[in-house]
Amino acid sequence: MTLYDVDLPTAEEIDIPALKEKYKQERDRRMTKAGQDQYVKPVDEFSYTYEGDPYTPTTPRSPVKKDLDVVVLGGGWSGILSGVLLRQEGLNDFCIIDHAGDFGGVWYWNRYPGLQCDNDAYCYLPMLEETGFMPSKKFTEGYEIREYAQSICKKFDLYEKALFHTMINSLKWDAESSRWIVKTKQGDELRGRHIIMANGLLNIPKLAGIPGIGEFKGHMFHTARWDYDYTGGSEKNPVLDKLKDKRVALVGTGATAVQLVPYLGKYSKDFYVLQRTPSCVDTRRNSETDPEWAASLKPGWQAERRANFHRGANERYQPGEPDMIVDIWTEVNRRLSDEFNEKDYYPDMEGYAAERDVMDFRVMERLRRRVDAIVQDKETAEKLKPYYRYQCKRPTSNDNYYDTFNRPNVHLIDVSETQGVERLTEKGFIANGQEYEVDCIIFASGYEVTSDLDRRWGFDEFVGRDGVSIYDRWNGGYATLHGIMTTNFPNAYFIGYFQGGLNSTLTYNFEEQSRHIVHIIKETKARGAASVEPTAEAQAAYVQHFRDTEVDRTEWIRECTPSYFNNEGKPDVDENGNEKYRFYLGEVYGPGWDAFIKMLEDWRNDGDLKGLELK
Ligand code: NDP
Repeated sequence: MTLYDVDLPTAEEIDIPALKEKYKQERDRRMTKAGQDQYVKPVDEFSYTYEGDPYTPTTPRSPVKKDLDVVVLGGGWSGILSGVLLRQEGLNDFCIIDHAGDFGGVWYWNRYPGLQCDNDAYCYLPMLEETGFMPSKKFTEGYEIREYAQSICKKFDLYEKALFHTMINSLKWDAESSRWIVKTKQGDELRGRHIIMANGLLNIPKLAGIPGIGEFKGHMFHTARWDYDYTGGSEKNPVLDKLKDKRVALVGTGATAVQLVPYLGKYSKDFYVLQRTPSCVDTRRNSETDPEWAASLKPGWQAERRANFHRGANERYQPGEPDMIVDIWTEVNRRLSDEFNEKDYYPDMEGYAAERDVMDFRVMERLRRRVDAIVQDKETAEKLKPYYRYQCKRPTSNDNYYDTFNRPNVHLIDVSETQGVERLTEKGFIANGQEYEVDCIIFASGYEVTSDLDRRWGFDEFVGRDGVSIYDRWNGGYATLHGIMTTNFPNAYFIGYFQGGLNSTLTYNFEEQSRHIVHIIKETKARGAASVEPTAEAQAAYVQHFRDTEVDRTEWIRECTPSYFNNEGKPDVDENGNEKYRFYLGEVYGPGWDAFIKMLEDWRNDGDLKGLELK
C-alpha cells in the first residue's frame, strides 16, 4: 500500500499569502453573532436526543439513599478509570452513576454506521498491557471499544458499584456533614464524602439551531442516538436497507459525518449532505493487528507509543525518532522530522515553529488536491476543499468519503453563505432559497463542548461551600489547582480540560487525572480528615504559574474557522468582555505534558499535600 495517494507540494508550489487571505475570507463568512447560542439544547420537544435510552430497557428500581466515600459521576472512560484506581487503592466504598444503561460513555451512546475510533487504538484504549487485550485494528470499531470498556468493568467488579439510567440534577455541599448531597431525577440521595466529576466532554448532544426546526414532520434524530429501526441494519451489520426508498438529509460534516456519509450515500434513495464547513479527509490506511507485531511488544510499549504519538501530534519528534503511528495526526511533524533528519539539521523551537507553519500549508494543500483527484464534478470538489489551518478542525481519514460524492444519488449542498441551513419546513429543508423535500433529517451537529457549563453539564444546581455555584465560580474563566480542584468546592474533583496538561491520547489524560484524584482522596482519608480544599493562595499561585508559562495560541485559534475548537470563533472573551472558557484545548499547561505529569508526580511524592487545607 502506498502511503499517500497524492504527493505533498513543495513550498514553492503554493502561494502562502494568497492562502492566508483565502483562509481569512472563509473564516469571516462563517462567523455568526450567535456563537454558541445558535445551537438547540436537547430539552422539551427535543429531549429525545438526550434523555431516554434506545439501547437498554429501563428496569424500575427504588430510590437509593446512602452515605458513600466517593460518588463518581459518569461511567465513560474517565469514570471507569477512576473506578479501577479506587479499587486498586483499596477504596471500595463508591458508586458510579450514569444516565446510560451500561458503561461506555460516548462509546455507549454512539452506534452509528461506520463508527470507529479515528485515532490509533493502540494508544487510545487504556490499560492494554494490564488486560492483555489487543484491538483488532489500528482504527477499531466503536462496539469493540464499548465491549472492551465493559470487560474492564467486569474484571474490576465495577458493575456492582453502578447506578445506571440515573440522571443527576443537583449537587450540594453540606458543610455540617462534610458531604456532597447528590440528588437524581430518579429520587436518589447519595451523600458522598468525595465526588469525582467524570461527566465527559461529549455527553450532551446539540442540534443545529436551524429556523423552523420544530416544523419538520418527517423523521429526525441525532447521530448519538442512531435509529436502526428506521434505517435498517444494525451496529455490527450496517446494511441500511430500509433507506432504499427514502430521501435523507445529513446536517454537519464533522468527524462523525465523515465516518457515516459513505453508508448513507450507499443506501439512501437520495442523500443530501448539508455542509457548512468541510472537513479535511485523508486516506484511512486502516490495518488489522498483526499478531506477530503484537507478540513482539515489550513491557512499557503502550506508554512509549503514546509518548511518540503525543510528540507527533502535538509537539515535535526528537532527532532521529521514528513515527510509530503514521497517520493524519502525525503527518506535519513526521514530514518535518524526515526533512531535518535528512539534512541532519535541527532548528530551535522558534525555527521549528516557522518551518511547521509552512508544512501546515503544504499538507493542507495536499489534502485539497486529494479532493480534486477523487471527486469528478469540479464544482462539488471545490466545495469540499478545506481552507483553514491544520487542526483548526479535527483531522479525519476515510477511504470512501470523497468517492461517495461521485454517486448520482448524493448531493452536496453548501450552506456556508447562509451560515448554516436556511430553514426547515414541514416537508424538508430550504437551502440557498430552494426547498428540498426529504423523509428524514439526521443531525451530525456535535455536542456541547465549549458552551456555558450549565448547558454542558445539565445539572440544575451545583453548589459548593458558602452557597457558591460552580456556574458563577467559573463564569469569568477557570481557576483551579492542577486543573482538578477549585476553592469553595471541597472534596470535588474535575476530570477534563480545565487548566491542566494535554496529552494527545484523551484516555491517558483521564487516567493521569484519576490517579491524582485517587491519591488525594486516599491521603485525606488516611489523615482522618473529612474535607480537603485548595487554599486561595495555592490556587492563585497555580493560576499565575499557568498563565506565566502559557503558550499564547490565541492568534492562531482566532484565525480558524469557527467551531467548538475556538468557542465558535470567539476564543478569548465573551460578549461581556469576560475571559470565559477560552476554547476546547486552549487551557493547556505551556511547558507540555511531560512537565505537567512531573509536576503532579513531584507534588504527590512530596507527601504533604501542599496547597490543600484539610479539616
Ligand atoms: P462537530 O461539532 O465536529 O461537527 C458538527 C457539524 O455540524 C459541523 O460540520 C458543523 O459545521 C455542522 N453544523 C452545525 N450547525 C449547523 C447548521 N446550522 N447548519 C449546517 N451545519 C451545521 O461534531 P461531530 O459529532 O462530528 O464531532 C464531535 C467530536 O466527536 C469530534 O471532534 C471528536 O472529538 C469526537 N469524535 C471522535 C471520534 C473518534 O473516533 N475518536 C469520531 C467522531 C467524532 P461547522 O463546522 O461549520 O460548525
